[in-house]
Amino acid sequence: MTEFQRLSKHREPLEYCIRCGFCKAICPAVSELGWDSASARGRMTFIKAILDGDIEVNEKAVERLFQCTTCGDCKERCPPGVKTLDIIEDARADIVDMGLSPKKHRILRERIDQFYNPYGAEMADKNKFKRDAEADTLYFMGCTAAFRRPETVIATMDILDAAGVMYRVLGEDEWCCGSVMRRSGYPDVAEELRDHNVNEFEKAGIKTIVASCSGCYRTLKEEYEMEGVEVLDITELVDRLMEQGKLSIGKSEDFVTYHDPCHLGRHMKVFDSPRRVLNRIATLVEMEHCRENSLCCGAGGGVKSFDNDLAINIAKKRVEEAKTTAAQMIITPCPFCRTNLSDAAEGCIPVVDFAEYVASKIRSN
Ligand code: SF4
Ligand code: SF4
Repeated sequence: MTEFQRLSKHREPLEYCIRCGFCKAICPAVSELGWDSASARGRMTFIKAILDGDIEVNEKAVERLFQCTTCGDCKERCPPGVKTLDIIEDARADIVDMGLSPKKHRILRERIDQFYNPYGAEMADKNKFKRDAEADTLYFMGCTAAFRRPETVIATMDILDAAGVMYRVLGEDEWCCGSVMRRSGYPDVAEELRDHNVNEFEKAGIKTIVASCSGCYRTLKEEYEMEGVEVLDITELVDRLMEQGKLSIGKSEDFVTYHDPCHLGRHMKVFDSPRRVLNRIATLVEMEHCRENSLCCGAGGGVKSFDNDLAINIAKKRVEEAKTTAAQMIITPCPFCRTNLSDAAEGCIPVVDFAEYVASKIRSN
């Protein structure tokens, strides 16, 4: 593959950037790092300079590219519609092809090559959740919940059981969805993972997939291209089950706030279902930045593994915003957001997974 094979197709779109800086005003990375090169505007500028041969790919350029959380806010705000994220992700992939991938992402890739998950865990561990059933609905656990937050898997299964949903769980045959590889510059690896998973879904005759991780949900829905298969986020499923009267949960006295994961909200436009559910079972109080304008948790796009300090500092802003509301806790349906916000909160406000919260209310009803 020649240098910048993917980036080359963006030569003309890169000319559309008018350097207005609208993207800089909202970028979570630049607000922490300060340098223009950490904003979409800065990234578009130095990517163009690299393509034009004016500057070399150096360590700082690689660092800046991998400090983007892929929150997508810049893309939404760009007046001429520059596809900033496509350009950043293609730049990452070209840099990986040049052998300049950050070491921490290379380790993730090696673990996926060997273990089919980014944690390097034994896939057989997923078998403790495996469920065989004559069902065309599948619960896709995701690696973060299965290996790092089993409470989320158990909670999701409890919700499905309480509503009488018949479903399968693949166990070790469920490989990483590929999100982390796609975001960190390994699209070919992401496609191999997708091909395996799609094959497993087809063998099992799956028609509906439920995901309890926003990164998995976006990847399954946007990138798997499965005809005749419906992909539902856990918030959409719970909303539907309550609407159909299959799940009945009384209203509690809790005051909660909701954090929109970028992969679920801004990228996939799922804003209403979690809010409908939380308003039925608690009192939802919104943070100043919510829905399309939600602040990023800081962990996405491989930033949690590449630059944990940056991820935590971005999350601290979100936690501070939550603390200004009357909420007793932050609820979010993404295990990655939950972990990073929790790390940043250091116990000053609980950060609770959506499925775990709903399941706790079912159990106490
Ligand atoms: S996707 Fe988010 S973090 Fe990345 S450049 Fe755009 S606004 Fe900044
Ligand atoms: S908002 Fe768009 S046009 Fe304006 S500086 Fe950012 S990338 Fe360029």
